[in-house]
Amino acid sequence: MGKTPRIRVIGAGVAGLTVAFEFARAGCPVELIERRAGPGLGCSHFAGGMLAPWCEAESAEQLIVDLGVESLKFWTQTAALAQRCGSLVLAPARDQPELTRFARRTSGFERLDAEGIAALEPDLAGRFEQALFFTDEAHLDPRAAMAALAARLQEFKNVALRYGAEAKPSRDKDADWTIDCRGFDGRDALPDLRGVRGEMLVLATSEIRLARPVRLIHPRHPVYIVPRGDGRFMIGATMIESDAPGPVTARAMLELLGAAYAVHPAFAEAEIIETAAGVRPAFADNLPRIRCEDRRIYVNGLFRHGFLVAPALARRVVDIVLEGAHFPEVMDADPGERQSA
Ligand SMILES: Cc1cc2nc3c(=O)[nH]c(=O)nc-3n(C[C@H](O)[C@H](O)[C@H](O)COP(=O)(O)OP(=O)(O)OC[C@H]3O[C@@H](n4cnc5c(N)ncnc54)[C@H](O)[C@@H]3O)c2cc1C
Repeated sequence: MGKTPRIRVIGAGVAGLTVAFEFARAGCPVELIERRAGPGLGCSHFAGGMLAPWCEAESAEQLIVDLGVESLKFWTQTAALAQRCGSLVLAPARDQPELTRFARRTSGFERLDAEGIAALEPDLAGRFEQALFFTDEAHLDPRAAMAALAARLQEFKNVALRYGAEAKPSRDKDADWTIDCRGFDGRDALPDLRGVRGEMLVLATSEIRLARPVRLIHPRHPVYIVPRGDGRFMIGATMIESDAPGPVTARAMLELLGAAYAVHPAFAEAEIIETAAGVRPAFADNLPRIRCEDRRIYVNGLFRHGFLVAPALARRVVDIVLEGAHFPEVMDADPGERQSA
């Protein structure tokens, strides 16, 4: 390819920020347009920041595991914004068979007994008999990570960041390629996109210390507690087939607080410092897509795996634009395209 292509990215969520970052590193002129006042204020604002590909194998397809493992390098080394100290999966005594089932469906863990749990997380001593320790998993603080990525983008001379700006199709002529990363707002162009509501809480307590995310086997939702530092813990997240953003429901609050209490009763004394709900963009099979239409590329359907998989998708988009590459695992997944291929 001759001239370096001018890239326009719409949406500064985790998808748009990682895409913009990869094009900037590749030396392309990049304009990133975000309708909100700053980066990461859409669905990405509410994420737990779990980078847990091996755990996700319990309910997700192998593609998510593969993209997640690939992306870990970006978060832990390239951007160096994640901590890699593993994650712990626990079950109350009555749900031990569920822990066995979880273990059967996943890999990359060590089994811990009560002593092993206490050695890893002293505040959980005596509370659980068995756990699975996923040694290589990582986590990050999504809000801090997106602010840091946006700040680094600003340092590139070839990048223009425009916040509070609505992307209009008529401006596409200013760019050679438009990368549409509008999340759930992109459903006007992607009618098969649906919303999956996720509710979360942030608790603050100085009574409990956890060094790593803890996932509790739960009958309805994959509930986890992610330490955010300074005694703050994100408790997430429900999965509801709804695109209503509204406030957290009493049921969600009961379920999330109940899970936190089951992990440690001192959470009952914690302050609730935030409750919120986000709408995850998802396709019917909960797998992400890169869809190309002429010079417009849609990156969407990141579902509950946005942080987990965005860097691997961003790398693919750059290779599609600069090398003409094709990635069937994320580009040919739609039944219509599969039939006509
Ligand atoms: C409670 C909860 C917990 C989660 N936990 C995790 C987790 O632990 N790990 C994980 O990997 N994922 C997690 N997720 C999923 C993750 O948050 C999503 O997959 C991800 O945020 C989707 O990112 P996105 O960039 O596609 O969308 P968004 O973050 O919504 O970004 C889209 C952006 O586009 C902008 N935009 C829209 N239209 C326009 C326009 N016309 N012009 C300009 N800008 C526009 C929006 O303002 C927005 O900022 C969680 C989600 C929720 C709700």
